[in-house]
Amino acid sequence: MLIEVYDVGGSKLRGAFAMLTSRVLLLERMEEPTRPDFYNQILEMSPKLRKTSVPSCVSVSVPGPVDGKTLIKVPQLNLSNPINLEEKLSSLGPIHVENDVNAAAYAELNEGIGKEYNNFYVLTLSTGIGAGIVLNGNVIGGNSGEFGHCVLETDPQKLVFVEKCGCKNKGCWCSFSSGNGLSYLAGLFVEKGLDCEDLFYKAKRGNESAKKIIKEAREYNAHGIGNMVSALDVEAISIMGSLGLNQFDLIIPSKQEISKYTLNNVPKITKTKFGEDIGLIGAFYSAKSFF
Ligand SMILES: [Zn+2]
Repeated sequence: MLIEVYDVGGSKLRGAFAMLTSRVLLLERMEEPTRPDFYNQILEMSPKLRKTSVPSCVSVSVPGPVDGKTLIKVPQLNLSNPINLEEKLSSLGPIHVENDVNAAAYAELNEGIGKEYNNFYVLTLSTGIGAGIVLNGNVIGGNSGEFGHCVLETDPQKLVFVEKCGCKNKGCWCSFSSGNGLSYLAGLFVEKGLDCEDLFYKAKRGNESAKKIIKEAREYNAHGIGNMVSALDVEAISIMGSLGLNQFDLIIPSKQEISKYTLNNVPKITKTKFGEDIGLIGAFYSAKSFF
């Protein structure tokens, strides 16, 4: 089974052909910065991927809530109107659309920590924050796991410094700890025009304001993860997303730090073994379970 897979990230769009052997192999990979009209990018990328073979279907993992084959909105790409991907990509043949963290949950379930655990989260820390949920060996799916938009801060003195999130709230977890949130805070407190990567670079070079922003983001991560563990008593949490993968040691709190925010046992938290490929591999398994 050959599936043409795409992973639409808040900053990068990846495409590949995915084929199942003893595991999913990704062939002909491509990667570009994501444009708001990412569906046109997919239409441009597809002929380059299809030079040698035709896939059984196209599977797209997207960074926002999904209804059928329609992407409802993506706050981090400033897309607030629904996009029907079946219509936009109709020339490519059968289409499957999945929310990115749900797709990632399929990847972990089939080839990753699902081999060891039946109940776990896949938490993405990237441009945005959200989680895929596996319970009793099944991906819960739908629009569950939008933990990133849980409001964690209501202190007006702290809220004056954060931007209103795409979810229309101020003070949600994303406002302080997502790539977008951190870039905003970096621009405000460290230097105009800094992005999230620069912020971590500055902190490593000893910049006190940068260190403070990261320390606070880590505390909000402890709070957010504590809430997740309170919601479901899972056995493990797998971390994905560029921020989570690249800055794991700095921003993922210890069990002790998280314990302050939950009565439940804090499970083992590890980086996903798939790295940045989790979205593409997830797009494969997610489509495979439907076709
Ligand atoms: Zn939000």
